[in-house]
Amino acid sequence: MENKPGNPRPRVLSGMRPTGKLHLGNYVGALQNWVKLQHSHECFFFIADWHALTTDYDDTSMVANNSIEVLLDWLGAGLDPDLCTLFVQSHVRQHAELHLLFSMITPLSWLERVPSYKDQQENLQGKDLLTYGFLGYPLLQAADILIYQADYVPVGEDQAAHVELTREVARRFNQFFSRSKSAPLIKEPQVLLTATPRLLGTDKRKMSKSYGNSILLSDESPQIAEKIKNSVTDRPKLTDHGSPDRCPVGNLHQIFSDRERLEYITQGCTRATITCVECKVLATQSTDAHLGPIRERRREKARDPGLLTEIIEQGTRNAARVAEETMAAVREGMGLLNLASVAGLMRKQSDALLLRTPATIADAKTDEERWEIRVAGWIDAVSLTFPLKKDRREVYITRKGRKVGVHAAGESPRGWEFRFEDRKVNVLALIAEDKDRCLRAYVLPPRFLEASSKRFPRNDGKVEILVGKDASGNAALHLEAGCEPVPIQDYEGDYSPLQ
Ligand code: SF4
Repeated sequence: MENKPGNPRPRVLSGMRPTGKLHLGNYVGALQNWVKLQHSHECFFFIADWHALTTDYDDTSMVANNSIEVLLDWLGAGLDPDLCTLFVQSHVRQHAELHLLFSMITPLSWLERVPSYKDQQENLQGKDLLTYGFLGYPLLQAADILIYQADYVPVGEDQAAHVELTREVARRFNQFFSRSKSAPLIKEPQVLLTATPRLLGTDKRKMSKSYGNSILLSDESPQIAEKIKNSVTDRPKLTDHGSPDRCPVGNLHQIFSDRERLEYITQGCTRATITCVECKVLATQSTDAHLGPIRERRREKARDPGLLTEIIEQGTRNAARVAEETMAAVREGMGLLNLASVAGLMRKQSDALLLRTPATIADAKTDEERWEIRVAGWIDAVSLTFPLKKDRREVYITRKGRKVGVHAAGESPRGWEFRFEDRKVNVLALIAEDKDRCLRAYVLPPRFLEASSKRFPRNDGKVEILVGKDASGNAALHLEAGCEPVPIQDYEGDYSPLQ
């Protein structure tokens, strides 16, 4: 579905690994909810084939086939490509790019502490999961979500913690590269908690393909009957009183039977007035009645490979368009080269080189030009000792991630007038050039800014600072007419906060 401009629907993002046909646990735990969400939200659902490789890298022969099976299950369950975007992760390469960029800023310890990192290594014994891809999969997940600037990620209660890492990555990225807190480059998504009905596997363990205890969404009627018939129940003996909550068959009734039938088997089970055989026959009827139309829709879609291709192509186009919008902003925010900026950068480079020739400053036609050359040179000189990284809005970032605002002004009759955009910086560097072309740099550290920042006058979204001379000719910072001047000479040449 095309994302219409001004579309007010909140955006949702979720995905599934293509490890085979989906089972009823996948259906009631996520897919059924997705089908509802597509009517109220702008939904992006993807087949997470790269994620499948993080654990199944040694045998990839079924990934492509499984991707089709998952898509068919989705369509059978009622996901409608006219209402939501369905796509395959590996077709939208921007996911990999964002993952790579996130990997540059994410501390290793964040990934090592993800609970599933250790859990899965223990559960999937016999597999070497000490791989770079497996450690980094939560970061790939973060890229999957954040690249769509999703408002919500639908998850069950037990998975809410996973989204927290994604939020942390977004915050860290924004802290480094966003212009300001009020204009973050990457949106932090919220968790959309999904009530997940309890559904045990046929052996009373958690339903899972690897346990061989699942009923598939695509199972035919005889297979469903057979699996339910062989299910372990909560009443080993006919005279035992049981509970549908603890029984896989009872769970199926709770999900698929109407109220009357559920009431009947609940009473019968807890009072031991029905047999498990009867209960299973009724559960088979209820389950099959629900899955019948899903199977039929699935069969119909499977008959039309052209339609599947079209759905994937359309979904990829739609997803890639949104992903590319985010990536363009991310690349720019991170200061990577784009073709449009080559000419400007070449000009700046030549300015910096020319700075080393004093005649260049003397030859500058305007004061502004001269200051620009001075600033470029100052940064160039400082960076030899304290490397600074320039971002696009005259803010420099130190190796320790501090944002440094750098501003220059030439002496006027009132002193040095600085006027710059109101954005948060940890350190403010003011470069003042006097009439004798003598350059002074004042680096105002965090403690100074914390104490004084609110007192700086603001006008048209700009911060205004006037530096004047005191009676003895020393420079002093005046906040506003009427305010006590704050002496800043103590900070002259104090570059230590930049370390
Ligand atoms: S009566 Fe039904 S719900 Fe109760 S234990 Fe038997 S099969 Fe399970």
